[in-house]
Amino acid sequence: MDKTITMTFHNLGLRSYIEVDLCSECPREDDKGCCGHYSPVFYPCDFAYLLEYHPVLLDDILHLPNLTVLNHSITINNSPEGDSYRCQFHDKTSGCRLDQLQRESICRHFVCPGINWEAEDHLQSWKDFFSRLADYENYINQAIAQQLEDQGLTLRNIEHRPELFQQLLRLFKEITAAKPDFFSSCPSREEVKIIRTLKFGSDWPL
Ligand code: SF4
Repeated sequence: MDKTITMTFHNLGLRSYIEVDLCSECPREDDKGCCGHYSPVFYPCDFAYLLEYHPVLLDDILHLPNLTVLNHSITINNSPEGDSYRCQFHDKTSGCRLDQLQRESICRHFVCPGINWEAEDHLQSWKDFFSRLADYENYINQAIAQQLEDQGLTLRNIEHRPELFQQLLRLFKEITAAKPDFFSSCPSREEVKIIRTLKFGSDWPL
């Protein structure tokens, strides 16, 4: 069955994201799709955004069960459910409870391989944009983590967290003060249509 899929690319710098209308009727038909195979990981760039715009949500995240806390990142572990898993943010009927900008990068950028949008010739500028964005974000996360480490600050020590987050936000603002050129290589929003042949259940590649 051929289906016209609407994808919307949003260029918001470090909070850029991709929307796909197929998600609301995911061919996996298991009410969780790709989210049933992932545990979100929050890194310094995500913490900086949450600290500035959603501090209460960040506090809620820090109090969730089943976290893996490393020195400068936190994984919100999913739980086994059926033949896959359930993300702690995923609701059976409404999907992800986080707004797009509140999600970490994989959740904002990932589109299932069944759609394989990167193969479309007319979307190569977006492919290049998201690839460079991933590299840029990695670089910032590592730079901030290194400087926090040099200051002996770790998320594993709860008493460090107020000072760590204060330093993290300061470093983030310093490092991102100059915007990279590729931020202006794509429009702020672009909606495109692509046609794919759907398969259902586990036949639809994730
Ligand atoms: S945080 Fe949201 S988008 Fe990411 S895996 Fe969980 S439910 Fe899905």
